[in-house]
Order: sequence, then C-alpha cells, then structure tokens
Amino acid sequence: MKKIISTISHNHLASHHLIQEATLMRNHNPVERFFALAPSRKRAIEAMCASCMGCTTNHLEEGFKNEIRNCSSHSCPLYLFRPYKKSENIPPQ
Ligand code: SF4
Repeated sequence: MKKIISTISHNHLASHHLIQEATLMRNHNPVERFFALAPSRKRAIEAMCASCMGCTTNHLEEGFKNEIRNCSSHSCPLYLFRPYKKSENIPPQ
C-alpha cells in the first residue's frame, strides 16, 4: 500500500513538473524562459533583447516585440540576430 501511494505521489509530481515546463514553453516572457529552461543561444538572445527593452523575469514591457523588431541600434552585436524580425534579414551561417 505504501509503495502504491509513493508511486502515485511520484507520478503526480512528474506530471506537475511537465505541466510547469509546458506552461513555461508557452510563456511569452523570454527573460523568465531563459532562466527557467535549458539555456540556448536563441533563448539567450531573446532574453537579452527583451531585457534591453525593459523586460525582467517578472515584468513584460508592453510592445517589447515591436520595439525589438524596430531596434535602431545597428552597432549592437545582436542587431542582426535579434528576434521578431522578418526572416529574410537573417544572414547566412
Ligand atoms: S539588438 Fe537591439 S534590442 Fe537587441 S540587445 Fe541590441 S540594442 Fe537591444
């Protein structure tokens, strides 16, 4: 009986973790997503540009995607790689 309860409890925790991760994947806050999920270059650039536009782990700046799309800091090293812009602007790898 104890083992059954332990297994149910473990399964409940595992499914809770999966739901949390799925929620974070749908989360539109790139800064929060970067710190909560496995780091990647893409997530790091998204988080950097979002924080540049005022986003933090618990604050989403209104219109931040448009601000990043229309970023005019051509000298920023991330300029060509910033998210939310048209794909034809991405340079070849
Ligand atoms: S590309 Fe623009 S939005 Fe992104 S970090 Fe640089 S200055 Fe900020």
